[in-house]
Amino acid sequence: MTGLIRGDTRIATPTDGTIPASVKLVATAVGGYRRLVADSRFAPLLSRSNPVRHNDFDMNLVIEQIIEQADDVVSLTLAAPDGADLPIWSPGSHVDVFLPSGKQRQYSLCGDPQDRSRYRVAVRHIRDGGGGSREVHETLTVGDLLHIRGPRNAFRMVTADSYLFVAGGIGITPILPMVQEADRRGTPWRLVYLGRSRDSMPFLNELAHYTGGDVEIRPDTEFGIPDTSALLDGALPGGAVYVCGPPPVLDAARSRLSAIAASGSLHTERFSAPPVVGGTAFDVELRRSGVTLSVGAEESALTAIRRSKPDVTYSCQQGYCGTCTVRVLSGSVEHRDNSLLESERKDAMAVCVSRSVGGPLVLDL
Ligand SMILES: Cc1cc2nc3c(=O)[nH]c(=O)nc-3n(C[C@H](O)[C@H](O)[C@H](O)COP(=O)(O)OP(=O)(O)OC[C@H]3O[C@@H](n4cnc5c(N)ncnc54)[C@H](O)[C@@H]3O)c2cc1C
Repeated sequence: MTGLIRGDTRIATPTDGTIPASVKLVATAVGGYRRLVADSRFAPLLSRSNPVRHNDFDMNLVIEQIIEQADDVVSLTLAAPDGADLPIWSPGSHVDVFLPSGKQRQYSLCGDPQDRSRYRVAVRHIRDGGGGSREVHETLTVGDLLHIRGPRNAFRMVTADSYLFVAGGIGITPILPMVQEADRRGTPWRLVYLGRSRDSMPFLNELAHYTGGDVEIRPDTEFGIPDTSALLDGALPGGAVYVCGPPPVLDAARSRLSAIAASGSLHTERFSAPPVVGGTAFDVELRRSGVTLSVGAEESALTAIRRSKPDVTYSCQQGYCGTCTVRVLSGSVEHRDNSLLESERKDAMAVCVSRSVGGPLVLDL
């Protein structure tokens, strides 16, 4: 005979029908757990609907130093409270920063990969943004603990005969350790660094330390608006081109792929959501919130959801971190992410990029 405790968990019970005290105890505990975690009004807080899978390190690091690196840009140096070595990272890596408000944002590591004792990130103040960078600038102080997840690298530095780096403004953060690495390896490199004015461009002084390549500093105030179509003209055969900056710089680089010899490669990283391409409008019902929203053809489901739930969790907005993954209760999803496993796609979606195949989606939100 078997006795059913919960879901499909079965345990053996004696044939005389009496239930041992130990089994009653387990059943009581499971019932209590279910009432608290699944049925109570605290359930949404205790059992989040995001089936996020991650293999990164989770750490609480202390802010050792905050330095103003340029107008509206501060750098934060982070270290383990006990001084332990931090996980290894390579140029191009970023970490997830969990801010005290619960917001999660990504920041490129811009310190020295060979210094295991500390990480450094630099953050531009986006005054009309979603509040993450504002929180960094306005509330964090030296001595605060920050929860960090990572490091993760979606912008890897390949081995190449030469490097052309193009950085726009705060896009210098992942590029700086690459410059350092190319210089250390003795590989020829060139950096074109664009910005509004010298005062707004972080790390100009540090770039002066790297003497094995060419640095071209191009503030708009001195050189005018750059001719983005010519940005890749310095790419050498067999060279790798790395571009990080605002969308017009990235778009210009991609449209000039022909400037890269067949033996070269182009690598880009964006800090903000890409435009929606080939989308159609659809509705999403947020079942737990009891609202139905219209998602426009040119916006993401996340953008529509944020209008109703500004505190919904998200991070990369490009489908690779999995932070915004939500359970799908009904509807057919066109998956555009590269974070979920096939098995997870049956009933989950990354709302920052994925959409409806047609018809409404019902989400566990
Ligand atoms: C892989 C990765 C690495 C990143 N590294 C850095 C970094 O090293 N330093 C840094 O300051 N930011 C970085 N970001 C952006 C960062 O995660 C936040 O998006 C940014 O701090 C703004 O946060 P927010 O909450 O104020 O606004 P959000 O709600 O995140 O964004 C608000 C708006 O601002 C746009 N936006 C985001 N970042 C910028 C920017 N830098 N300049 C102009 N517009 C922007 C967004 O597209 C959006 O439209 C990175 C993002 C990614 C995905």
